[in-house]
Amino acid sequence: MKAPVRVAVTGAAGQIGYALLFRIAAGDMLGKDQPVILHLLEITPALPALQGVVMELNDCAFPTLAGIVATDDVNVAFKDVDYALLVGARPRGPGMERKDLLEANGAIFGPQGKALNDHAKRDVKVLVVGNPANTNALIAQQNAPDLDPRCFTAMVRLDHNRALSQLAEKTGKHTTTIRKVTIWGNHSSTQYPDLHHATVEGKPALSLVDPAWYESDFIPTVQQRGAAIIKARGASSAASAASAAIDHMRSWALGTDEGDWVSMAIPSDGSYGIAPGVIYGYPVTCKDGKYTIVQGLEINDFSRARMDATDKELREERGGVEHLFAK
Ligand code: NDP
Repeated sequence: MKAPVRVAVTGAAGQIGYALLFRIAAGDMLGKDQPVILHLLEITPALPALQGVVMELNDCAFPTLAGIVATDDVNVAFKDVDYALLVGARPRGPGMERKDLLEANGAIFGPQGKALNDHAKRDVKVLVVGNPANTNALIAQQNAPDLDPRCFTAMVRLDHNRALSQLAEKTGKHTTTIRKVTIWGNHSSTQYPDLHHATVEGKPALSLVDPAWYESDFIPTVQQRGAAIIKARGASSAASAASAAIDHMRSWALGTDEGDWVSMAIPSDGSYGIAPGVIYGYPVTCKDGKYTIVQGLEINDFSRARMDATDKELREERGGVEHLFAK
């Protein structure tokens, strides 16, 4: 067994937290040879519920669970952490304007960014799941001036996995035969699920499906999948979101498969005409704990328009939170 690493999870007593913690503790995220110490953050009223989760975690007697810290103090939660999964966020309530939502989340992700800046390991890997995830990641990043900006990422992996699942169903093949799907941009309904470079059993995906299906069925289905699950289940997706968070961190930490890539929302650097300043979904490969944007992909007019539309939305969101950035 390796030396334990510290993994922070915020919103740990919530729905996603409940689907996430047991899998991290069981070694699904970092491997069966990597013990973890869980740092669980909750708001004060949720601490009793969190204690119940801690009891259950202990009762699983996982070989890879090396300790648990449960707290409502962000400075304790992020002390010396190697990984941070920021799940807890303020959900949009009835009648809540986007501006109010961004403000409420600024009050959460600003202090969390500062606490990561002050207490986390210098190479901490941060994944924001709580919505609006890309912009919440940007707020945290902008409050952590001493950390590498590339420590901060947001989750588009659930959208990536949803794209795999839709394409697998349509072609009658298993998801494991599909490569090189991309989710560009924001984890919102403007995201652009791109199949132009994807293959199924080595054949171009777009040669196997009708273009009308791609444009009018596949893209909106992936974009609207969250709403469809709420309608069917009466509650939002939690297990699939948790599973995607594990996939995102595992790829980042342990690497991507040869000949394939994954989608991660990361700081834009000008690649594919997306100017620096937002956290944007890109195709990336990962190796030795570092991610690299896949370069040189051909982008046609169809893709360009959609990539620019989701970029525009992210810049509007950024405009609404810039006053929350550390000076
Ligand atoms: P969930 O665990 O279901 O969701 C948490 C966040 O993840 C929400 O912002 C949700 O966004 C987001 N999310 C991202 N992708 C998905 C997806 N595919 N499906 C569903 N959600 C997704 O929420 P709960 O209310 O059950 O739990 C939240 C917990 O966070 C509570 O226990 C609360 O006390 C805690 N919290 C902790 C904070 C902290 O640690 N400082 C701060 C704020 C809250 P969306 O709303 O758009 O569904």
